[in-house]
Amino acid sequence: MILLFSGGIDSFVAWHYLNKPKTVYFNLQSRYSLREISVVKKLIPTTIIDNSLNLSDREHGDNAYIPFRNLLLACQAVKYSNRIIIAGLLDDMVSDKNKEIFAEFSVLLTKLEGRTILIQSPFWYMTKEQVVRWYKENVGDDEILKTTSCYSTGLDNYCGACPSCFRKWIALRSNGYDLDFWNEEMLDSYYDRAMKGKYVTARNVAITREIDAYRSRY
Ligand SMILES: [Zn+2]
Repeated sequence: MILLFSGGIDSFVAWHYLNKPKTVYFNLQSRYSLREISVVKKLIPTTIIDNSLNLSDREHGDNAYIPFRNLLLACQAVKYSNRIIIAGLLDDMVSDKNKEIFAEFSVLLTKLEGRTILIQSPFWYMTKEQVVRWYKENVGDDEILKTTSCYSTGLDNYCGACPSCFRKWIALRSNGYDLDFWNEEMLDSYYDRAMKGKYVTARNVAITREIDAYRSRY
């Protein structure tokens, strides 16, 4: 198998969970690529850096969202293996990263390639909190704090004020890692959405619990 490693928590934990398979990082030449490459090389130095897919002209908005990015990555990854692992989670809310669409990708790529291609994630039944819990119980070091998925353009791996850092913050704090989050407005709006039940239940519960605990810490 080949595991797509982004430098973020989900794919880093997947690497441990799957007993350290071969990894590839696709350098999409996005505004985060240089920071991600430096993290990838530190965390899993054997990762192949693949420069064949430049999607810089497909980035949209503040979060540099790339439409059907996971489909494009899966298509490009078939050159490495018949079995491609992209670490999607139960609480992901992306149209091209969920169990059903990965099954459809597998059917499509199998037809196109004329050989069996599987696009899979080991984490469809786990939230980000549960993935971090698995790491803490089974690996237990602080390497997970070096991962990055931040939307800021600064050099730090963790800005503590963007939506991606928020999600990381909740998952890490739920597991006893003591981090700060500095964007009070964002805390308010996530709290609101969680109270209204916008996410999967486990995530709504984690968001309200952790924000309550954080705000009553003094
Ligand atoms: Zn951030």
